[in-house]
Amino acid sequence: MPAKTPITVAHGDGIGPEIMAACLQIMEAGGAALEVETIDVGEKVYLRGNTSGIEPSAWESLLRTKVFYKAPTTTPQGGGYKSLNVTTRKMLGQYANVRPCVSYHPFVDTKHPQMDIVVVRENEEDLYAGVEYQLSPEMTSAIKLISSPGSEKIVRYAFEYARRHNRKKVTCFTKDNVLKMTDGLFHKIYDEIAAQYPDIQKEHWMVDIGAAKMADTPETFDVIVMPNLYGDVLSDVAAQIAGSVGLAGSANIGDNCSMFEAMHGSAPRRAGQNLANPSGLLLGGVLLLVHINQPDVAERVHNAWLRTIEDGVHTYDIFAHGVSKEKVGTKEFTRAVIARLGKKPNTLKPVSYAKAPSLPVGGRSVSQSAASKMDLRGIDVIVHWPSRNPQQLHAAVSKYASNGIKLDMIDNRGVIVWPAGLAAAETFCTDSFRCRFFADGTADPGKLIDLVRQISDTGVDVVMTATLRTFDGREGYSLAQGQ
Ligand code: NAD
Repeated sequence: MPAKTPITVAHGDGIGPEIMAACLQIMEAGGAALEVETIDVGEKVYLRGNTSGIEPSAWESLLRTKVFYKAPTTTPQGGGYKSLNVTTRKMLGQYANVRPCVSYHPFVDTKHPQMDIVVVRENEEDLYAGVEYQLSPEMTSAIKLISSPGSEKIVRYAFEYARRHNRKKVTCFTKDNVLKMTDGLFHKIYDEIAAQYPDIQKEHWMVDIGAAKMADTPETFDVIVMPNLYGDVLSDVAAQIAGSVGLAGSANIGDNCSMFEAMHGSAPRRAGQNLANPSGLLLGGVLLLVHINQPDVAERVHNAWLRTIEDGVHTYDIFAHGVSKEKVGTKEFTRAVIARLGKKPNTLKPVSYAKAPSLPVGGRSVSQSAASKMDLRGIDVIVHWPSRNPQQLHAAVSKYASNGIKLDMIDNRGVIVWPAGLAAAETFCTDSFRCRFFADGTADPGKLIDLVRQISDTGVDVVMTATLRTFDGREGYSLAQGQ
């Protein structure tokens, strides 16, 4: 009997406890050597007044075992509750979210019988940094953060994953025709890293048309790497068109701590009725077994599960007349998988993990960015201007542009409104404006601060400022539309 590997387990909310019990039973019957530490996370913890949904003692277990097997949790409705998943992924540095989306044709109904995609989603940055502000009564904002080390880590992970799993192509989705700086950086780093893997094909699509192609002809994709928000949305699409979100597992990989889960949520309406399909969480468990170096158990469990699906033993969510043979509940499905341990599927392709190296983890260092020459050129001053009238705002702020500092433009929602262009009368303005000031040559930071103070002292409501810099002569700020 191999030494048991300590893992931290959370049974979650809704259908969570039923499907977690099922998965642990199957994995243990398959020979998994696990020393399970149970923690409480989710709804109960939130309702005790902890807005993160996880107690300090639970962190202690996670930091010790470094392996987290998590059933879905419910985030209570109403303000103030932080997503437990986002917190766990970010606090534990789980930068890579790996989501295999495979079709099981002809045993699970799908329009895409050949589909076998792995979505590698960046997990820590982008709009999920969760940095949001209300700028004025009418305007809110969220900041999209994309860094070069964050992009390098995830793109390199996707190529390493592809190489180790004998995948042929890594596609990248971004929207860098619009988001030139943030998605532009992700795309540039993808191009640089792809050049280091000549054995793997590369391609880039704008996320809109890329998503349309993925939904139409998913069999033409292999591994797809993308920033956080696109990856969150499109991995659910990929899982659903493969057959069901209820069938997909997910791994969140960090250099030290990793988390394994189902892609779906806690399905509260199905809870406690012996209805839920444990397959997504079980396939998350298979990824866990590979990760903790028990590949023979992972293989036995996965093949028994494939055989169960192939034998037409299906829970309600994937049951289809003419395809399925027996409609079962969670407990009966669990027994059916256990009864098939040691068997392989006949039509579906059996998996083989004994030879496959585990998911790449740990030890990656990111390149140090070359030092840039930064030059301070000016400042953006975001103001709340309730009258919504750009000409009046111009009159109020332009008089302070002196001492070698000039008002360059005023915009509203990124559209230039001063100096007014031909279409100015058509441009709708909210109560939140941005006033851009440039210095002649390099700006003096003290003079920029004086400028902001003068604007504020006359009663203009200054909400936020951002300095404008060049990096090796390149503008480190986007231009307004119409500029
Ligand atoms: P959901 O994934 O829980 O349910 C969507 C639909 O799929 C429902 O009709 C449900 O009955 C069905 N379904 C999902 N998993 C199933 C399974 N294993 N077997 C059978 N049917 C299944 O999504 P939702 O309803 O939007 O969210 C419910 C709760 O889950 C919310 O509180 C949400 O915050 C939470 N959630 C948690 C996670 C997580 O913990 N990783 C992920 C997503 C949502």
